[in-house]
Amino acid sequence: MAEKTSVPEMYGSLVFNDKVMKDRLPKDIYRAVHKTIQNGTHLELDVANTVAAAMKEWAVEQGATHFTHWFQPMTGLTAEKHDGFISPEPDGTILMEFSGKELVKGEPDASSFPSGGLRATFEARGYTAWDPSSPAFIKDGSLYIPTAFISYGGEALDKKTPLLRSMEALSKQAVKVLHLIGEKDVTRVTTTIGSEQEYFLVDKDMYKKRKDLLLCGRTLLGAPAPKGQEMEDHYFGVLKPKVSAFMHDLDEELWKLGIPAKTKHNEVAPAQHELAPVFETANVAVDHNQLTMEIMKKVADKHGFACLLHEKPFEGINGSGKHNNWSIQTDTGVNLLNPGKHPGDNLTFLTFLVAVIAAVDEYAEILRVSVATAGNDHRLGGNEAPPAIISIFLGEELSLVLDALEKGVAFEGHGKTQMGTGAAVLPHITRDTTDRNRTSPFAFTGNKFEFRMPGSSLSVANANIVLNTAVADVLETISDALQEVPEHHRKDALMEILKKMLTDHKRILFNGNGYTDEWVEEAAKRGLANLRSLPEAMPSWISEKSLSLFTRHGILTRDEMFSRYEILLENYAKTIHIESLTLQEMTRKDFTGALISYMDDVAREGNAKRALLPGAACKAESKVLAALDEDAGKIVEHLEKLKEDTEKAEQIAEIQAQASFYQEVVLGDMSELRACIDHAEALIPDSYLPYPTYGEVLFSLR
Ligand code: ADP
Ligand code: MG
Repeated sequence: MAEKTSVPEMYGSLVFNDKVMKDRLPKDIYRAVHKTIQNGTHLELDVANTVAAAMKEWAVEQGATHFTHWFQPMTGLTAEKHDGFISPEPDGTILMEFSGKELVKGEPDASSFPSGGLRATFEARGYTAWDPSSPAFIKDGSLYIPTAFISYGGEALDKKTPLLRSMEALSKQAVKVLHLIGEKDVTRVTTTIGSEQEYFLVDKDMYKKRKDLLLCGRTLLGAPAPKGQEMEDHYFGVLKPKVSAFMHDLDEELWKLGIPAKTKHNEVAPAQHELAPVFETANVAVDHNQLTMEIMKKVADKHGFACLLHEKPFEGINGSGKHNNWSIQTDTGVNLLNPGKHPGDNLTFLTFLVAVIAAVDEYAEILRVSVATAGNDHRLGGNEAPPAIISIFLGEELSLVLDALEKGVAFEGHGKTQMGTGAAVLPHITRDTTDRNRTSPFAFTGNKFEFRMPGSSLSVANANIVLNTAVADVLETISDALQEVPEHHRKDALMEILKKMLTDHKRILFNGNGYTDEWVEEAAKRGLANLRSLPEAMPSWISEKSLSLFTRHGILTRDEMFSRYEILLENYAKTIHIESLTLQEMTRKDFTGALISYMDDVAREGNAKRALLPGAACKAESKVLAALDEDAGKIVEHLEKLKEDTEKAEQIAEIQAQASFYQEVVLGDMSELRACIDHAEALIPDSYLPYPTYGEVLFSLR
């Protein structure tokens, strides 16, 4: 039997990481690559040639035969095209080759990726460019090289390019501020992200029997099971053996790829789980999250499960999100959002804290767009996830610190406090400066902010692009103002700037329960936006304020902004369109068949009874038949209406109007139709249905 590999041996074994480079590259080359990674500088071709040769040698040793540039087009998924290392020789043999040019640049025919009008189809050329800051890895016999994806004209066609640009912008502005306030050693800051990932596991055979899950990733009909999540018995519950085996395998697969998966547990809804990694540099964390989602599906399949990453796979129970934990770290090793022991006197912390508050308030609508998808719309505001209103939770102590700052008085308090547990054998626990508030979309959690609005299937690139850029923008206003001030007055000047920012932006601060109707009212009074759906949110993306923000910091050009606007709206319209067609088909072919055959059987039973027992009342049969007949009539009507409205939607040429029509009319039709079906389904024995019910799908995991 093979020796069991230890976790440290396994960890990163499929990654061309720093250690492998150090071992295999000549010292000067290693240093050049390292510098590129650390400082984001350009890499010369001769260096790339040497790196490519070492990469190939290593990859071939690991059994790889191909390489692929791996990128993240605007579909929200990842893309890859594999090329063999082989190069035939005249004598009939082959060499395994991989050049520096092949490493740094690829040319996929890109005409079928969404570009939102950026690239005419005759300009099919697109380029992929190596991102040396995200390590290459091996998967399924191929060497994967993380790359950015740009058009022939140089426009970004992906999520990585603007993310890298936003990290640069934030670094530049943060360093300027830090230098002005005396932190002269810092030359660079990086954004750090840890994204907690929620997901559902369901039985694969059941999954395949439901067209809605198969085609749309969410159920479009289905009566609620007698039991939901009300007993709160699933959250942090004991892992079932099959689920536990899946999680074990998943961890191992992720560890091999150098993905630091750390915690795993059951979530609130039945069949729902969560995985959280240790945080990493933003672009690596985004790549790793994309990989995590892919590996989750693959490992699930091996274990007889389907992994659902949709934001709302089932009505009536919680959907899934992705918490984006975000902070900023200096190259001197300081987390700029760490309050330390004395937050009230920690001017660096206060500066960055207030900058984030101001940025989130100023650009809340754009941040909302960054998490908008057809799937996530079902989740936000559904009293299970944060509302669609963006607000910030700071917790009691920091709120007091900021009160004092605004009033210009000293803060009387201290960071962490000791807390007795009341039992002598238990250790004393230090109390965090903030409690948790699960209802807040943007919460300060000790030494980072946790943005809880992203949906489970979404790449977190967009959210971080907006967040980084917004914060960079506020930092720039701070440094612009400070630059004018002589050094010995800067501290006072900074306090004044922060005070004014707080006064201007404190409406975004809210420590209360975000799930209540009172908050919705209160937020409206404060003038905070409540953009409930993607079509409502999208105009903010192309507002002058937004265009100006992104172009000013060199993150996206106007054309790139408009292209993203079109792609998002188109994707939304297409998603609802497919859902509508799927629901229509399930209604016609799957549900109506079951309904009619059950009604038929009931009627026949009733008649048979009457034949044997003339004058029998047949109350049960009559009652069921009457109820089902009424539902059947309504279902026919609603199905017809859904069909007509979907055809109308298809005819609308203007994309914003089309998406709004899908949201306002087609989605409404779908839920009316669904309500009638669900009502009828509850009256029909499961054996008549050609697909498994909610109860079966949600409670069958072992
Ligand atoms: P929770 O209470 O939400 O489970 P944890 O403290 O376990 O929070 O952390 C959740 C996530 O936050 C993890 O992925 C963790 O790595 C990440 N995290 C911790 N510190 C930072 C940081 N400085 N920057 C970004 N993410 C961080
Ligand atoms: Mg969390």
